[in-house]
Amino acid sequence: MAALLQTHHLKAYYGDAQALFGIDFELNAGELVAIIGANGAGKSTFLKCLTGLVKAKAEAITWKGQPIGGMPPGKIVRQGLAMVPEGRRLFASLSVEENLLMGANAQRQGPWSLDRLYRLFPILNEKRHLPGTSLSGGQQQMVAIGRALMSNPEVLLCDELSLGLAPIVIREIYNAMPSITAEGMAVVIVEQDVSVARQVSQRLYCFQEGQVSLQGLSTDLSKEQISHAYFGV
Ligand code: ATP
Repeated sequence: MAALLQTHHLKAYYGDAQALFGIDFELNAGELVAIIGANGAGKSTFLKCLTGLVKAKAEAITWKGQPIGGMPPGKIVRQGLAMVPEGRRLFASLSVEENLLMGANAQRQGPWSLDRLYRLFPILNEKRHLPGTSLSGGQQQMVAIGRALMSNPEVLLCDELSLGLAPIVIREIYNAMPSITAEGMAVVIVEQDVSVARQVSQRLYCFQEGQVSLQGLSTDLSKEQISHAYFGV
């Protein structure tokens, strides 16, 4: 059976500058896969290719076996991919609840509703009428995740969820992931913190200079293998 989402020797460019040099990747329903790698390794570019923000060849990305590379972002969201962008990007003039409802525009049916989100992150229920940007960094990250879940995606792509957050808040956010994947939703996280990435993911890809330098089951990969693949030493 074809994977839910696959890339086939995916390449990406910014003008003449090549950022990805042939990434082979796959994601199956219900999996949590982490992507790690140093600054500039190509992690964000990879997520942007998956969501159509950076152009790719049609056949370099397949969704349930069908080519989706280079499709406009709106069309990709309607297929069932949602992104939690780096830096959260909440709408400053909107309340928490209005921010969450902005995600419900993809016209996809599924298990996620405001009620369900408030059960996952009860603090958002308490603060639902406050401006989204008045919340703490961790709570804003919960809103950003919730907004993506409201589109009832089959795949959630998360760019640097833990950036700038305290360890206890990072744990709280990652503790929510099993409830998200339990019904078959797949999650991709780009994570700077290698030990967090190893702990929360089932499989892991390490990127180095636009290529996959290591991949495997997170429990099988040793710290030495990972640091070799990460730093290239
Ligand atoms: P970081 O952890 O710093 O976000 P990253 O692994 O996500 O790094 P990318 O941001 O994908 O890496 O960058 C990959 C390469 O593409 C780098 O060489 C970077 O300089 C280049 N790049 C990224 N965005 C652009 C852009 N908008 N224009 C030109 N080059 C870019």
